[in-house]
Amino acid sequence: MSEYVDEVLDATSQPATGFPRLQVIDEDKQFSTDVNSYLSTVGLLNNGLNYHLISVFGSQSTGKSTLLNALFGTKFDVMDESARKQTTKGIWMSRAKQDSILIMDVEGTDGRERGEDQDFERKAALFALSTSEVLIINIWEHQVGLYQGANMGLLKTVFEVNISLFSSPNKSLLLFVIRDHIGVTPLDNLAATLTADLKRIWESLIKPPELAESSITDFFTLQFTTLPHKILQPEKFISAVDELGNRFISDAKDENYVFSPKFHRNVPADGWSIYAKSIWEQIELNKDLDLPTQQILVARFRCEEIAAQAWDTFENDIKPVEGMLGVVEGLGSILRPARANALELYDSQASRYTTSVCEGKKRELIEKIDLRLSQVYGAQIATLKKVALQKFSADVTAELAKPKYKFLEAVSTAKSETIKIFETAAAEALIEGTSLSYSKDLSVLSSEIEDSVARLREAEAKRLATRITRAVSSELDDSLPSIFKTPREDMWDRVMLNFREIVATALAKYEVTDGETGTLKYDFGLGGLPEEVSSEMEQVLMDTWKELYRKIREFCRMDAILARLREVFEDKFKYDEKGVPRVWKPSDNIDDFYTVALNETLAFIPVMTSARLANGDRVAPDSAIVPALERDEEIDVEKYAVFMSQSQAEELRQSFKRIADSLYIDAKRSTIQSIRQ
Ligand code: GDP
Ligand code: MG
Repeated sequence: MSEYVDEVLDATSQPATGFPRLQVIDEDKQFSTDVNSYLSTVGLLNNGLNYHLISVFGSQSTGKSTLLNALFGTKFDVMDESARKQTTKGIWMSRAKQDSILIMDVEGTDGRERGEDQDFERKAALFALSTSEVLIINIWEHQVGLYQGANMGLLKTVFEVNISLFSSPNKSLLLFVIRDHIGVTPLDNLAATLTADLKRIWESLIKPPELAESSITDFFTLQFTTLPHKILQPEKFISAVDELGNRFISDAKDENYVFSPKFHRNVPADGWSIYAKSIWEQIELNKDLDLPTQQILVARFRCEEIAAQAWDTFENDIKPVEGMLGVVEGLGSILRPARANALELYDSQASRYTTSVCEGKKRELIEKIDLRLSQVYGAQIATLKKVALQKFSADVTAELAKPKYKFLEAVSTAKSETIKIFETAAAEALIEGTSLSYSKDLSVLSSEIEDSVARLREAEAKRLATRITRAVSSELDDSLPSIFKTPREDMWDRVMLNFREIVATALAKYEVTDGETGTLKYDFGLGGLPEEVSSEMEQVLMDTWKELYRKIREFCRMDAILARLREVFEDKFKYDEKGVPRVWKPSDNIDDFYTVALNETLAFIPVMTSARLANGDRVAPDSAIVPALERDEEIDVEKYAVFMSQSQAEELRQSFKRIADSLYIDAKRSTIQSIRQ
């Protein structure tokens, strides 16, 4: 770790020195936790599949690191010739000077005597073989053909474990670099010898049955090259290395260009750390290892990480909306990009991984996002609905407060405007590709507005009824006194005729002809259903009948009747037929006049204490309205036309008799006085 940090600092301060390196696996066989930050430092983390991996394999001190540094411009440790001191054990990584290539150098002891070191060497070689597209195998020319010396023993072991560990081994390119080539034996001969050796090794491997017939070339492409002695022929060495370098540059159009898609492990750079670590762990534990399974595990892990990142971005984007109260203006323009951006972010990174895994995780992400969206949208719609209803009420109230309002027009304008505003705002926040919808809420809103309209209609009908009843009441006040002034047999016929005329006049402007039946009916124009219209009408008629009930009771109060009887009596008793006041003379028969006037006046008492028509029928509300009046219970329908009980009528009689008697005595007194004069 500290070394890596030093190197990074070094690389930052002195970019000319090339890329820093990282110890991927340390001497304690621990896999580094810094791989991702290393890849980020060298600018490869976000390269997706656009990178290559090369490893080197071979005995210690065969000039591997020297070759890598020369070929790729890396800075791997090279054994100090004068000190001959061992470099740090482990696997190192560095970015090459050529584009997007990563190199792994394996350091170890030449520990054929020590079993423990052999274990590391084998594991390191296996790791290099499993993860790399190209494996450079470094050997001295004089080792070619020598089984032990050429490290073919190790190669055999590595092949064998590779086959047994990985149910489907990856393909790689094996590039044999034959060092210290003297030039006597041509490359082709050396290559033929090595190829024959490799085939023999492959045949001798213990293979699973399905690979029994396989040949080494089914899994490995073989390439060979020679290099002159670095120290004895430095210039030739350098130019040979330069030429070899062309095989790693696609633009160089070298026929031996090493990278082929079939060698790529198809693990994106940002997933490589997890992938390589899991392979290392499997090698360490020596467990069965299935490379495709590893790739899927990595895909799952990374896709989950990317989905979590996308979700965070999404949540962050919609956070402003959450704190807002009331209707959020332009909600859709916040939600839509939040969703699109999150999915785009996911796609851009996750699409490099195994498609089935990437798609599956994406579906989960979409589900989670859409659930959240539906909550936010639902809250918005609920608020919108509330606001819309309030606006509807406010609009109608304002309209109905105007002097010459038209109820139906006011209500329907307010309704259509409210619905329009709701629909516009609700549609604005819709998101294509989601199941967000407001149709249910729209129909709920409509029916809530209808409920509100029904209440308004009821209130309006009451207001109209009050207005009509007030008009009827004042007309009755104008006309009834003259009818009651002179009680006659047909007084109540005139009262009722008058009442009906007044009511008919008051209702005249609400009269309509039924289109179907052609009959006349009333409609206040409030747009109600037929049963609502008839109940409104019933209410009005009921109120007018109640008004009449109160009026006639007022005129037929005990004191009012007494006053009226007194007037009638005085008219008959104190005035002659021509309306001239009588001056009583002693010769006048006052008793006779008195008896006639008294009887005629008393005859009116029944007319005043209960209302009967000339034909003898009791005055009563129209039978159609009777049930409603009975339900209403405000007035006693039974006694609609009865103003007094028998005993009250008798009391009235007595009271009137006393008044008449006193008038009689007054008359008598006046004759006595006139005699005295
Ligand atoms: P590594 O252990 O395989 O990585 O080998 P090093 O790169 O550390 O080199 C080991 C020694 O071999 C060093 O002393 C180098 O100077 C020397 N060396 C490097 N390249 C060559 C070469 O081409 N021929 C010979 N004979 N020696 C070399
Ligand atoms: Mg080395």
